[in-house]
Amino acid sequence: MGTPVNIIVGSHVWVEDPEIAWIDGQVAEIKGSDATIVTANEKTIVAAISSIYPKDTEAPPSGVDDMTKLAYLHEPGVLYNLACRYGLNEIYTYTGNILIAVNPFRRLPHLYDTSMMEQYKGAAFGELSPHLFAVADTCYRSMINEDESQSILVSGESGAGKTETTKMLMRYLAFMGGRSGAEGRTVEQQVLESNPVLEAFGNAKTVKNNNSSRFGKFVEIQFDRHGKISGAAVRTYLLERSRVCQVSDPERNYHCFYMLCAAPPEDAKKYKLGDPRTFHYLNQTNCYEVANVDDAREYLETRKAMDVVGINQDEQDAIFRVVAAILHLGNIDFIKGKDIDSSKLKDEKSAYHLQTVAELLMCDKKALEDSLCKRVIVTPDGNITKPLDPAAATTSRDALAKTIYSRLFDWIVDKINSSIGQDPDAKSIIGVLDIYGFETFKINSFEQLCINLTNEKLQQHFNQHVFKMEQEEYTREEIDWSYVEFVDNQDVLDLIEKKPGGIIALLDEACMFPKSTHETFAQKMYQTYKGHKRFSKPKLARTDFTINHYAGDVTYQADQFLDKNKDYVIAEHQDLLTASRCPFVANLFPSLPEETSKQSKFSSIGTRFKQQLQSLMETLSTTEPHYIRCIKPNAVLKPGIFENFNVLNQLRCGGVLEAIRISCAGYPTKRTFDEFLDRFGMLAPDVLDGYEEKSACIAICDKMGLKGYQIGKTKVFLRAGQMAELDARRAEIL
Ligand code: ADP
Ligand code: MG
Repeated sequence: MGTPVNIIVGSHVWVEDPEIAWIDGQVAEIKGSDATIVTANEKTIVAAISSIYPKDTEAPPSGVDDMTKLAYLHEPGVLYNLACRYGLNEIYTYTGNILIAVNPFRRLPHLYDTSMMEQYKGAAFGELSPHLFAVADTCYRSMINEDESQSILVSGESGAGKTETTKMLMRYLAFMGGRSGAEGRTVEQQVLESNPVLEAFGNAKTVKNNNSSRFGKFVEIQFDRHGKISGAAVRTYLLERSRVCQVSDPERNYHCFYMLCAAPPEDAKKYKLGDPRTFHYLNQTNCYEVANVDDAREYLETRKAMDVVGINQDEQDAIFRVVAAILHLGNIDFIKGKDIDSSKLKDEKSAYHLQTVAELLMCDKKALEDSLCKRVIVTPDGNITKPLDPAAATTSRDALAKTIYSRLFDWIVDKINSSIGQDPDAKSIIGVLDIYGFETFKINSFEQLCINLTNEKLQQHFNQHVFKMEQEEYTREEIDWSYVEFVDNQDVLDLIEKKPGGIIALLDEACMFPKSTHETFAQKMYQTYKGHKRFSKPKLARTDFTINHYAGDVTYQADQFLDKNKDYVIAEHQDLLTASRCPFVANLFPSLPEETSKQSKFSSIGTRFKQQLQSLMETLSTTEPHYIRCIKPNAVLKPGIFENFNVLNQLRCGGVLEAIRISCAGYPTKRTFDEFLDRFGMLAPDVLDGYEEKSACIAICDKMGLKGYQIGKTKVFLRAGQMAELDARRAEIL
């Protein structure tokens, strides 16, 4: 960030503060490389001059709508600007053409109504207050005018507002590209109604968000040559499967389970459902309700949305039958059986639920029971049936529940895609990406590695774009930018995904080798990446490893990596469901070719995810990107609270600080000749008369002894710190 220069006694500055990150103050004394500062809360602090930043005393109290308008582009300046604006309910701010959106945690209906959409329609970017409609509008117009596909990448941590933003973007695009007066199930209605359907099955209440998406999503909206929506496709990434069987306070399972329990009596009866408290998959936590959500109503709404996206009554019935079956499945318990290490149903209640599952899935009851508590082992001398102990049978039960649920989710996504339909002749697309942000928890596992890999990829894409935009401006203004350095994160990407030799490749090898354990896998990593700049082994760790990501260090626990990377359906489960008398259920489990079915051949989740990402990046690379960074201002999900440290960390993870760093490596301050003379003309009043604007600017810079600045066609480009230098000179005169 900008090197602070010319801080003098009397300068207004930002200095680090342990409680609020940055506090403003005034320099009282300077001794060597230290400054004594009296802060706004009347404390006296001594800090190294190199750690303090100049404060722009002329900044408007309501903040600026674009960070690039800040006199000093640095961390405290950016933070303070966002905080000021948030206090005034201005939740949107630009950083160049990146939109930063701070979650208001309160409904601001007027901000998104039709009249607002009308206003932004066709308005020049930057003319009106920053808004997601402005981004969507720019996108739409660039697509029409430049005949180029576009994408909007929405990122941020859980609860930051990505999904709400995405939905609003889609509404705006439907508003622009919809067919006015069209009746019935139009493509744009189907696109919009796909949201509640996907949310019912893919969202859940978590600690961080009452409506947290547990999957990533890329929606590709296709347009014809008249700029009308002609098709769409939804791609989803990595649905969290573990939630189906395992939830902890204060979280919930997927919304659809509670909706179905709250369904009208005739439906609840049909599926033998009732109080969610009676189901193991729901009663592991004490949380059954979500504030301001009526599950009974949501059930009816979801059914309506399913109608719109083309899921017919029979299919809906089958979907909910499968959802109910999963709940009943979770209530089947096992105890020790007669033979050693065998198991049997625990009691009458378990027998009842087994019976119900068999009815709902339309499969054989005995076959279901066997598939849960027995395994067939293939040997050269024929098949042997081996019993499972109660713990293993329970694991088998949960594996079945997770498999069915994730197949069901995929079916719904496929169905939405086939019923909306793709336009093979689409002229261009606008893609909207709503995907999990960078994650770092107390315990980080395989999922976090995949998520953080995604973010590294998107970060690289983002940096390249920011860098390119910056260069384009320099080129437009015809200034020299050849020495602006650009540091890339390619080394982290190689560490994780390079083939051969990357972490995912090592993991796949470990999964295919029967004797591997998480210990041998970790050892292999320690050997392979010894001395790697981005990889380290924490002291005393046996299976932990740390990756130095662009957003900071994350330590991963390798314990469950092997299991979590293996994607296979237990052969007994596969056979059971393929044989279902319900075509819908059988269709979720198409039979496999003979040779693969019995061996439960390994397929890698990591590698598949990597390929999905690769294909996403290829799609994105054919589009002009636009970025929206969502920020969650506090962890309590309440309006009006702005936690500085928290926000700073998100600005870092979202690459906003990195974007600023990139622009600081070049010329962070750009001022038109006019603006420059307004502010600094007083430094050399003699040059104001007679000179034309450009020469006057040069004269001032030279007179002040600035080095390395550049004069473009319409603007003065200052290096980091030079604005502060000029301001200090000005302060001396004032
Ligand atoms: P994410 O997808 O990033 O996890 P969501 O988009 O689900 O987060 O937002 C979390 C919650 O924050 C929403 O349920 C809503 O209550 C609130 N929220 C987010 N964006 C807005 C907004 N623009 N206006 C009002 N409330 C919002
Ligand atoms: Mg979401």
